[in-house]
Amino acid sequence: MKTEARAMVLEKFNEPLVMRTFPIPRLKEGEVLVKIEAAGVCGSDVHMWEGRDPRIRLPMILGHEGVGEIVEIEGEKRDVYGTLLKCGDKVLWNRGVTCGHCYFCKVKMEPSLCPQRWVYGIHTSCAEPPYLTGNYAEYLLLIGKTDFFKIEPEVDLQVLVPASCSGATAAHAFDLSRMESGDSVLVQGVGPLGIFAVAFAKSFGASQIIAIGGTEERLNICKAFGATLILNRNRMSQEERKQAVLETTHGRGVDAAFEMAGEPAALKECISLTRTGGACVSAGFGEPHGTMELDCFHDIGRKNLRLQGVWVSEVRHTHMALKLMLNRLQDFTRLITHRFPLTQANDAIRIMKTKEAVKAILLPHSAHISSPLAGED
Ligand SMILES: [Zn+2]
Ligand SMILES: [Zn+2]
Repeated sequence: MKTEARAMVLEKFNEPLVMRTFPIPRLKEGEVLVKIEAAGVCGSDVHMWEGRDPRIRLPMILGHEGVGEIVEIEGEKRDVYGTLLKCGDKVLWNRGVTCGHCYFCKVKMEPSLCPQRWVYGIHTSCAEPPYLTGNYAEYLLLIGKTDFFKIEPEVDLQVLVPASCSGATAAHAFDLSRMESGDSVLVQGVGPLGIFAVAFAKSFGASQIIAIGGTEERLNICKAFGATLILNRNRMSQEERKQAVLETTHGRGVDAAFEMAGEPAALKECISLTRTGGACVSAGFGEPHGTMELDCFHDIGRKNLRLQGVWVSEVRHTHMALKLMLNRLQDFTRLITHRFPLTQANDAIRIMKTKEAVKAILLPHSAHISSPLAGED
């Protein structure tokens, strides 16, 4: 059995991650050791690396999205579907761990808001045992409270990486939107979060799905997922986009708008394109990113607007994202545009920062990746 694991560690903000080796700790009751098959590089990892996320403590192993194979279990453990887990099983797990006993967990049934909630690869430092607490590593130690989803062996596991973060957050947005079948939907922002929103809109039975984004490649992915109208904000003025949306919604605006961009201007545009009495759901802000001005009468009161914020996600949303992906696995393979070995984690962060990649993943047990897209420049 392996006794050590390599990991890429964030020791100083804005400086390259460094490869470190950690001892694999002895498991306690309920704990699971996973061999990471793929770790997602999230847009918010870039923000953490830049020191813009108030939640993190250095040194730390980044990476809150992952899939892998169980190599050790202490005690009996079942996944959320009731399947008994064993060594060799391929699994996805919920990235957040909550207390399960507080006002949010138990009274309001919104564990995503639990004040004790923490996330592997975000709130965890690797300064003390069990060290292996982030996904940019060969192995990850998951504590007893972690929720698992067993994945059938024939499924291409790597493709499922985004289910645990952007997929689950988009699911949360739809969960809160009260969207109805037949509704017209606007998705603002076409990163992984926006692409998932288009896919959810389609599966929820939207009659129209309008996507606004800045890159043609990503807008075309949205089209493949069911967007009926794509609007490139670099080629159309805001007024032209507004006209296009009004034309397809009988002059009313959309029933539900989803802000998935994390830009105040994007949220403002979403509000302006939502019909009277419609819902505007904002899920794009993972960290502080500025303010905006609203006309309280026209934008909110007279409009009878339902403005819904979305913070992270719960186990049920990871389930929703996973099932959505399993239904359209072939389409979702297009999301993973870049694959890197663990040693090139810094390249992966760079390529997510420049938005050259839709989604980059790390493959900690592959020394050389043959993907033609793996950024060599
Ligand atoms: Zn993420
Ligand atoms: Zn709680």
